[in-house]
Amino acid sequence: MKSTSFIPPNRTLMGPGPSDVSSRVLEAMARPTIGHLDPIFIKMMDEVKSLIQYAFQTDNELTYAISAPGMAGMECCFANLVEENDKVIICKNGFFGERMKENVERYGGIPIIVNDEWGKKVDINKVEEALKANQDAKIVAFVHAETSTGVKSDPKALTKLAHDYGCLSIVDTVTGLAGVPLLVDEWEIDAIYSGTQKCLSASPGLSPISFSNRSKEKIKNRKSKVKSWFHDLNLIMSYWEGEGARSYHHTAPINALYGLHEALVMLSEEGIENSWKRHQENHILLRDGLENLGINFLVDEEDRLPQLNTIFIPEGVVDAEIRLKLLNDFNLEIGAGLGVLAGKVWRIGLMGHSSCKKNIDHCLNSIRAVI
Ligand SMILES: *Cc1c(COP(=O)(O)O)cnc(C)c1O
Repeated sequence: MKSTSFIPPNRTLMGPGPSDVSSRVLEAMARPTIGHLDPIFIKMMDEVKSLIQYAFQTDNELTYAISAPGMAGMECCFANLVEENDKVIICKNGFFGERMKENVERYGGIPIIVNDEWGKKVDINKVEEALKANQDAKIVAFVHAETSTGVKSDPKALTKLAHDYGCLSIVDTVTGLAGVPLLVDEWEIDAIYSGTQKCLSASPGLSPISFSNRSKEKIKNRKSKVKSWFHDLNLIMSYWEGEGARSYHHTAPINALYGLHEALVMLSEEGIENSWKRHQENHILLRDGLENLGINFLVDEEDRLPQLNTIFIPEGVVDAEIRLKLLNDFNLEIGAGLGVLAGKVWRIGLMGHSSCKKNIDHCLNSIRAVI
């Protein structure tokens, strides 16, 4: 068989990620590849770092983009911060908490699970009970923006609670970053990771992360080596930090980083507060339109993520068939339900570049046409 170039269709991406990538970012990624130790590239990497610091609202030195997707950001946090037999409180209110548990186990820690119903935010009282019952716990880990349900939890209150009990906080904000308010320094978050393909609207495959000085100290004073060579931050720090101190760790995904750089420049042009505001305003527009169609939301209004709208599938609608119809006839991708919500809900993303009036109109018109 003779293969020819792959030409993807022009979709409107309104699922749980990836989101639409703007032509500015796509054009940036098509620019010539240069060496990853080229002084000009290193200068761009320094800019990427300060732009990520801006997005996270942090001055943390240990802030950069991992050369792998959001899941690698998760793994990096647990690989570096969990030591043998460390107790880690995992707040599980959706799909991603389960993966945190897997990571803790694989890196030798003991997960203590705090369960909340899918569609509810993390209950801070339950977390406090778990901390009281496990005074030797070292870390509290939770998901800021649970993409499987569209619920937002409170990183400020949860981190404060973690600190009251002498724990560090690990925060998943893969879907949160740039979509809802997040102040890493002011809220004193210790370790946080995100992804490029949700509200930053760069292509998938990179994971912005940031570690507080408290976390950095813990990593430097580990009794044993980090069990993942690739994620060992002691090694990566020498690649990213200090002028002229770049030594080879791995070859950075150069063109993907051009794309992230452009997406972050766009975010800084818009202003982070304006980005949060745009996501909220567009959620209201979509919400009103869906409610007019008689469609209901899973999550209580005050705990809803504006960038991830989980709605009950209208009565009599065949889930997979209709989503395929939306894709084939309207070039529109929306998300299916995960886990306990499979077949019951759809997840409509309004993330980053996808969070715009044009997409909302297209989505409402398409759904109206098929149901
Ligand atoms: C998407 C997502 C991830 C994983 O990111 P990938 O880029 O798919 O690896 C992790 N956590 C949450 C909450 C997510 O929404």
